[in-house]
Parts: sequence; C-alpha cells; structure tokens
Amino acid sequence: MIERLKLTILVENTASPHDSRLCAQHGLSIFMEMCLDSESMCVLMDTGASSDVILNNMDLLNIDPEDIDLIFLSHGHYDHTGGLMGLLKRMSRRVPVLAHPGIFAPKLRSRPFLKSIGPPFSRRDAEDAGAVMLLSRNPVSLAPGITTSGEVERRTSFERVEGFWTIVDGIYQEDRIEDDQAIIVSIKDRGLVVISGCAHSGIINIVDQAKRLTGSDSIYAVIGGFHLMGSEDERIRRTAGALLDLDPEIVCPGHCTGARAVSQLQEVLGDRCQPLFTGEVIEL
Ligand SMILES: [Zn+2]
Ligand SMILES: [Zn+2]
Repeated sequence: MIERLKLTILVENTASPHDSRLCAQHGLSIFMEMCLDSESMCVLMDTGASSDVILNNMDLLNIDPEDIDLIFLSHGHYDHTGGLMGLLKRMSRRVPVLAHPGIFAPKLRSRPFLKSIGPPFSRRDAEDAGAVMLLSRNPVSLAPGITTSGEVERRTSFERVEGFWTIVDGIYQEDRIEDDQAIIVSIKDRGLVVISGCAHSGIINIVDQAKRLTGSDSIYAVIGGFHLMGSEDERIRRTAGALLDLDPEIVCPGHCTGARAVSQLQEVLGDRCQPLFTGEVIEL
C-alpha cells in the first residue's frame, strides 16, 4: 500500500488563482509522487494538449521531467496526449509509456464539424523520441498499491458515450472510447484514490471497477475529468447521487466535468467537492 500520495496538477482547464505565469488549457496532466516504504515513484498521468504548456508549467512548478519513472496515457484524445512528444525530447533516457492499444485507433468528433481528435503522433514517432510503449487492455499493477483500471466495464444505465467516432475497416462507427482508463491508488489507513482522465467510460463505472479490482469498498477520493460537459441534467443528477452514496472524503472534478456539473456536485457534496485548477498541489 502507498503511504503518501502527492498530486501536482500540471495542466488543467482552470487557471491558477496564485500564479498567472502558469498556463491553463483544455487538457489534463497530473504528476503523481508516491511513497511506498522507503522507496518513491513518480508517475505522470497524461500530458495536456501541447508540449509548450506542460513544459512551461513543469519548469515553474520545479518538476524535472527526468524524475518521471513512467508515463500513463488515460486515453488517446489530443488533450491528454498532445504534450508527449516535447516531453520525451526533454528527457535524456527512454521512458515507459503505458496505455491501452486503442489509443492509436482513429478518433474523431462530429460537432461542430468532423475533426480528428486523436494523438498528434504515431506509435513509431513516440518510440523514436524515446518512449517504450507498453500497451495493455488489462489492469497493470505499477507497484504494490497502485494499478491502472484496464478497460472499464460499462454497467450503469445513465453513463453513455455520445458524439465520438472512429473508423473500422473504412466505415465510420460510434466510438465507445474503450481505451479510456484510470489510475487507482490504495492509501494506507484511508482507502482508494481514483484518478480519471476524461472518464469517458463514466466516473461511476470507473469507481465500481476500482472497487471490484481491489476488493475494497472504501473510496477516499475521486479526482479528474468526469466528462459531464454538455450532459443532460438527469445524468449529472444521478452521477452526483451515486458519488454521494460512495461517500468519498474528497471529490475534485476538473477538465471536462463542465461548470454546470461542478456546481451541482458542490451542491450535493458540499465542502468535500473542490474543483481542480492548474498548479494545484493535493497531498493525500
Ligand atoms: Zn477525451
Ligand atoms: Zn479530455
């Protein structure tokens, strides 16, 4: 089990209230430092949408890219993968990059116009720049007490994926974004911390998967993008109710959660709900 977890929000949609030099953008990147016994591990989850933003913010927050032990890409959308190439070029050694094999499938959205929203690089580009691509559909244990979710089972009736497209054998198909994954950390004496990228598979489905995978019912924190931007009120209401039932001590929605959903979550969860912002440090 992990004894301490420190999260630094490197890239987020909301600007820092403390330092105007930090750049906000539509995207997400979270630097995680974990202590287990006498050892420590640094995992970077996602890279924001562009190299200039993540590198600018890392420099200002005194985080050295060389300290990253592993990069985890939550899914293939550009706003989570776009900073990867610049980051790899700043590192002097090869680094493992863990993701679902589906991140390189064609990714499009249809509104307001058909647009490609996949990673701005190929697997080959990433490997040439120093990535050691580790692709897995299944959960991967990164260390005792920290695992990826693997492909998330979609069980709830109210969490549907809409508006995304892929191409299979030359034919457009709706994209269920099966590459969407989260990170689950078990913190000693506290419980599970679930960290999502966009939560395209549904934040409640993700937390349920975390419970099944770890065999623990104790949810301490739920952090990340909940993808409720543009969702109908019914889905937001049911998500807020399900989060309340899970009874976490901390809920930090950000990125693609959307202002309307954030204010409803705050109404239902009260002070436990603290929206993310760029440059924020969360110690758990
Ligand atoms: Zn996404
Ligand atoms: Zn996103």
